[in-house]
This record gives sequence, C-alpha cells and structure tokens, in this order.
Amino acid sequence: MAKTRKIMIFDTTLRDGEQSPGCSMNLAEKLEVARMLQAMKVDVIEAGFAIASPGDFEAVQAVAGEITDCTVASLSRCLEKDIEASGAAIKPARRPRIHVFCATSEIHRKHKLRRARKEIVKLSVDGVKMAKEFVDDVEFSPEDASRTEWDFLVEVVTAVIEAGATTVNIPDTVGYAMPAEFGDLIRHLRANVPNMDQAVISVHCHNDLGMAVANSLAAVRAGAGQVECTVNGIGERAGNASMEEIVMAIHTRGDFLNVTTGIETRKIYPASRLVSSVTGLNVQRNKAVVGENAFAHEAGVHQHGMMAHRETYEIMRPEDIGVPSSKLVLGKHSGRHAFKQRTESLGYMLKGEQIDAAFEKFKRLADKKKEVFDRDIEALIDEQIEQVVEVWTLRGVQTTAGSNTVPTATVTLARADELMTDAAIGDGPVDAVYEAIQRISGTRMRLLDYSLRAITSGKDAQGEVTIEVEYDGRRFRTRGVSTDIVEASARAFVAAVNRAVTLDLANGQKPAQP
Ligand SMILES: [Zn+2]
Repeated sequence: MAKTRKIMIFDTTLRDGEQSPGCSMNLAEKLEVARMLQAMKVDVIEAGFAIASPGDFEAVQAVAGEITDCTVASLSRCLEKDIEASGAAIKPARRPRIHVFCATSEIHRKHKLRRARKEIVKLSVDGVKMAKEFVDDVEFSPEDASRTEWDFLVEVVTAVIEAGATTVNIPDTVGYAMPAEFGDLIRHLRANVPNMDQAVISVHCHNDLGMAVANSLAAVRAGAGQVECTVNGIGERAGNASMEEIVMAIHTRGDFLNVTTGIETRKIYPASRLVSSVTGLNVQRNKAVVGENAFAHEAGVHQHGMMAHRETYEIMRPEDIGVPSSKLVLGKHSGRHAFKQRTESLGYMLKGEQIDAAFEKFKRLADKKKEVFDRDIEALIDEQIEQVVEVWTLRGVQTTAGSNTVPTATVTLARADELMTDAAIGDGPVDAVYEAIQRISGTRMRLLDYSLRAITSGKDAQGEVTIEVEYDGRRFRTRGVSTDIVEASARAFVAAVNRAVTLDLANGQKPAQP
C-alpha cells in the first residue's frame, strides 16, 4: 500500500476571505482568527496583502509577531514595493513566507498586464528572486493558471522553481475548472516540469461553479501537496474552497484519497462560529459540515435508523468537529474554567487578561440573570473584542432635561490627543447625546434598538445600555455601562461609532488578487 501523504492546509481566511464583500475584520478580530487557526494546527496562515493598506500591513505584522506554530505568509505582486512591504511585515515571524503572484493566462497577459510571454517569465523570476532576498520560503502563483496554456504554464513553473520558489500554487482564480480537467493539469505539470520535485504543488480554487472543493480534491489525488482554503469558504465572489469541507472529506475518506492533514478537527465548529461572528456573514443552514442542519435528522425513518445505529445515516460525528454536546446554561455558580470552556466552544480564543475581563462581566451578568445563555456570552465577548479598537473615547457628557425645557446635551469626545466638543438638542436627553456624538464623529447611524437595565439592585446600581444600530447596511450591537444611565447610553453609542469607523478603515480599495 502506498504511504499516506500529509496535505498542508494553507488558510487564507485573513487575506482572500477578508476581501469578500462584508467580511472586513479589524486588527483585534484578525488576531482572534489567527489564534484559532493556530489552535487548529493549520500549516500556513496567509495573514494579508501587506502593500494593500496600512491596516493590512499592521495585521500581517501583528499575526507574524504572535503566531509561533504556523508559517505566516504575506501576498505580493511581483513588484519591488510589494515584496519589500511583505518582507518587512512578516519579519517578526518564526516561519515567514512571501507569496508572490503574476498572471499568466492569455486574457490577463493581453488585457491586464499587456506583456508578452517572455516578459511574464522574467517578471515572475525576478519577483521570486527578490522575495528570496528576504526569506527562504517563497511561494509563487501564476494567477489564472487554469486558463493558461499548459505549455506556457510548464515554462513559468520551471523558471520560478529554478529561481528558488519552494511552493508553486496553481490557482483556479475565476472558478472555471472542472475536477477531472484540473486533476489532469496537475498531472501534466508533474510529468513535464523537470524540477517539479523541488517544490510543493499547491492549489487555490474559487467556487464560482460550486466546484472549489471538488477541484482541490482532484488536485490532491493528482499529487498536490498543499490546499489553500478559508473557514466557511468565504472569499472573493462565490468564495474559496471551504476548509472544513476539505479537511472533513480527507478525514472521512482517507481510505480513498490515501492522504491526511494535521488539522485538529474538533476546532472546526468553533472556528466556523468565530469567523461567522467577526465577519457578520452567517453560515447557510444546509452548509456541508458546519451548517445548523448538517447533523439534524428530521425525517422519521432517519431518526429511527440513528437510534438503532448512528452510522446508518451519519458519516461524521458532530463531536469530531467540535459541536458542543450539551446545551447547558451557565449561572452564577459556574467557575472560570467552565466559562472559559464555553467561550472556546463558541469559537473565542481569549487570552489571560481578556478572559479575566470577560469573566468579570459574566459574573456581573450572572448575578442579575439566573441563567446565562450562549447568546449572552457571545454579546459579552463581542463587546470585549470590539473595545480593543478605540478610535473615539468619551471624555464628558452633560445634559439638561425636564418637563419645561428642550432636552440639550453637550458631549466631549477625544480622538488621539484631540478633544472635540459639540452640543445638540433632541427628543430626550439620550437622543440629544446621540445627535451630539454623530455631529462630532461625522458618523451617521440608525438606532434600531435601545434597552436599559439595572445590573444590580439598590441605589448604587449600574445601568447597562444595549443598543443595536445599522451602519452601511450592517447591523451590530454594542453596550455601555455606568452608574449614570445617560453616560452608559453615551458609552454604548461611542462603541458603535468605533465599530463603524474600524469597518471604514478596513474597507479601503485593494488591488486585484488571485
Ligand atoms: Zn483567491
């Protein structure tokens, strides 16, 4: 029997995934996801496209600085400034990789790059050589490989391996390939690239025709050693190959594929929840592996079969992908350990001080509510993650209100060291405060929900304000706590403004990527 090969999992949730509409993540959220990917034991984390924006650069650098167990990659075009940015951003990484790409298909050569075949080869070789000056681990992608003439692809791949590329990634950039055809392409490269044994073949498939996973697995069968994918399959247009589907297909059908991965499958469900929560992109109910219905057996005949013998209708066990086995609620007597475990099963990877702060809040909440449900914990922690980025801070709030006066608010906010004050009137003191905050920050949001509740009883009780706002088509909830309910309202709204501002920063125009 042939030896079982280990397939490397290259996760690009933070780069290709983050690029998809509505999936922008702030720095704190990207770090959360990176920690989860490390816990899952992915082999490579593509942390971003360093040249794309200062935010991307900072994110790659932060991930490179913190992640120790995975290779950390940054994407670059074959341009000096791109490669320099990637080189600088991944410098702190224990295992840094630069991923360079250059389009090779005729349609891209003619209409995008306006270059002849020879020039494309030179550009690619020079890019790999430049990257080699920063790191040993260099990956090259001929963008739109699946629509590139096979003979030319052989020429490019041979040249970049000679220049030092250690991984050659074959992207189906536009999701055009068919599984049998894509497998044949990988076999063709293995048979015709003379130095192919000196580099790992990787694949990167898009899901425009719903075949990203099928194409990736066909490539694996044909000899590919690395698969690029994203959690929940997020990514440009219809997305990328979904990591959980790739991993569980290999896990379940290793007998047929004769390969394995190093992935900790029990982190799959928590990772899916985390990515869904930080991107706001819900997982469809009938999504393979991680959808809400993936393990639900409604049909009576199936239920009967399941009770008699699970494997009658179940090819994977929910516990293998980390679906929490109990719906137990937590209460005031739940300890720190139980709380931490629950947050992990909900997809959060909080560090020491974050856990302490969240646990404090949980205790306060548990004092008030007899039962604390998963949704309560999620709201609690989402505030925690979101508070890390404080563009605006509340410095002062003063209101006048009463039965015979027009409610007026004066608010002072700080951005960096700059203080700004403005006043506004409203239907009530809180409305006036919100108007003043919007005037200062220049951020317009629609308030959808406002609720106030006391956290403890007695005259020193703290008020907790929860609001739901809509900004740029996205809805989110934030909270504020204070002994003064007007101040608690202001804090909740400032948190919402910070959330909106972070989204704007992350949404800058980025160059096209494979
Ligand atoms: Zn892509």
